[in-house]
Amino acid sequence: MDELEFLKSAVPPLLGWYRIYKRDLPWRGTRDPYRVWVSEIMLQQTRVEAVKTYYCNFLEKFPTAEALAAAELPEVLKSWEGLGYYSRARNLHAAAKIIAESGFPQTWEGVRALPGIGDYTAGAICSIAYGLPCPAVDGNVLRILTRLLKDGRNIDDNRTKAEFSAMLKEVYPEGAGDFCQSLMELGAIVCVPNGAPLCGQCPWREFCRAHLAGEEERYPVRAEKRARKRADYMVFVLEREGKFAIEQRKESGLLAGLWQFPLMEKESASPPEYFGTVAAKRSAKHIFTHVEWHMTGYLVRAREFFPDYVWASEREISEKYALPSAFKAFTPWLSNS
Ligand code: SF4
Repeated sequence: MDELEFLKSAVPPLLGWYRIYKRDLPWRGTRDPYRVWVSEIMLQQTRVEAVKTYYCNFLEKFPTAEALAAAELPEVLKSWEGLGYYSRARNLHAAAKIIAESGFPQTWEGVRALPGIGDYTAGAICSIAYGLPCPAVDGNVLRILTRLLKDGRNIDDNRTKAEFSAMLKEVYPEGAGDFCQSLMELGAIVCVPNGAPLCGQCPWREFCRAHLAGEEERYPVRAEKRARKRADYMVFVLEREGKFAIEQRKESGLLAGLWQFPLMEKESASPPEYFGTVAAKRSAKHIFTHVEWHMTGYLVRAREFFPDYVWASEREISEKYALPSAFKAFTPWLSNS
């Protein structure tokens, strides 16, 4: 049996398994492209458990693309607060404006052309919402397929993704949406990335080549990971008369346009005493995809309202300003000061 035939024969058991064992998630069952899109964007880089509540709240607030397009960006960012990777929310908002004008695109190319939508998300939306045979191939799908086929191609090489995508396109069955989600589901709950996969529960256990060879954990093959960069910052939580100093980040780069406590690189930072009297000190670390922030935070009773900053109460900060979760180690100071 050639690779394609082998892969085809793996589809029915996977679909059968999915229909019985799929998790009950708030976005399951919808074929509304707007809802599928919101769920897929939220699920990028974010755990399913964390997404559930955000998804429901977001759709309650912005039930349609038109409602999202009509909202102001700060309101959208506020609803995203804590989910991280805020460029996703900016792109959702920008794309919603396009959709409100001309409707949700009906083709892969049209969906792919929207801001913030890559090949994977376009594939997921088109297969789940429209039933089109458009593969959605990410690291999870590559992991399960390289194990199934005992395939040693490097999954960090973009060519591998394109090759698997082309192969999957050939085996897409009727009911493309279920197939797309069944691949994702198997990768999420059975053929898991960390630790040993749960082969005993897998619909492919009787013919998965890596499993039969006892080599599940040798796959997928990956390129060596580059180490994350490290950045050291001092964070100043400046308090005066119940107000706290905050500033807006640059419009580009990491956490673009969001709000933060005054943040300075360690070498260039003023000593905390420059701002006033230090009342507390705390260290914290936040890990982004490519960089790790090591922060030393100071709660300071400010000697004046420094004019470079916006001064806001705890309530104003929580209602109006999107403060990334990178600073969550310091936010308890707002209520206890
Ligand atoms: S049998 Fe094991 S290694 Fe193979 S796909 Fe299933 S869970 Fe993954």
